[in-house]
Amino acid sequence: MIIEEIAAKTLLSRVNYEAWFGADYTMNLYRGCCHGCIYCDSRSECYHVEDFDRVRVKSNAVRMLRRELSAKRTTGIIGLGAMSDSYNPFEQTLQTTRAALQEIAAAGFGISLDTKSALVKRDLDLFQRIRDHHSAIVKLTITTADDALSRLIEPHVCPSSERFAALRALADAGIFCGVLITPVLPFITDTEENIREIIRKTANAGGKFVFSMFGVTLRTNQRQYFFDQLDTRIPGMSVHYQHVFGNDYYCPSPHHQRLKTLVQKECRAAGLLWRMPDIIRGYRTTENAQLSLF
Ligand code: SF4
Repeated sequence: MIIEEIAAKTLLSRVNYEAWFGADYTMNLYRGCCHGCIYCDSRSECYHVEDFDRVRVKSNAVRMLRRELSAKRTTGIIGLGAMSDSYNPFEQTLQTTRAALQEIAAAGFGISLDTKSALVKRDLDLFQRIRDHHSAIVKLTITTADDALSRLIEPHVCPSSERFAALRALADAGIFCGVLITPVLPFITDTEENIREIIRKTANAGGKFVFSMFGVTLRTNQRQYFFDQLDTRIPGMSVHYQHVFGNDYYCPSPHHQRLKTLVQKECRAAGLLWRMPDIIRGYRTTENAQLSLF
């Protein structure tokens, strides 16, 4: 596989993500993503990523990260995976994400990482190092417990069963990990059976939490791509979306209230966290324990 290289001008962006797993910075080592999720928000016009499915690597990213980290007066949590999956198929040989994690570990920063790829298992050793020096949380996004449906709506990444197996590996290695059920697609994945099954499998795999938002956002470009894909994969569904939501930005599941109650009930019974502040407190336990030593 040949991948185009581009140069990054800057890498770390300061964010106020206390509301999103407590990240202080966000960064993307790649531009674009080839996992093909039909609902992907990152292909929206507002992000200006032309030819989104073509992955480009920021060839100077690791060097730049080292420089930017050393210039920070205090450490913090770095979010990975917001606009592009850090474990795309090119990462297997390029190892850009792995090299960046080594820099993060060496500089004593923490991570909050999102992915859909089972390749994440490769870097368990680095997650452990980062956890021991600061804090680490790894989130597997799983929108459906059904492999056939995940292949339909997330065609170029491993099916859900492999993501649960990756979660098991992370949990066995003592990494604070869990599942993001985002988005929940109205009329497609918003059934009680699906949500209940994801929670059950997360608990069985040793995950610590489930976090969900009960709808999907649709913006310019993203909406058209989603509807075009629905037309070939689930005929008739895009017409139904247009009838119910028109051009709305946020398209909530009609069952969102019921699903929210279900998540609380099922997570409580399974011993999983589901509230953001509790999840943040949970994965920062190591960091707090380290700080208390001083
Ligand atoms: S893995 Fe994430 S960034 Fe990549 S296509 Fe899917 S939703 Fe988009």
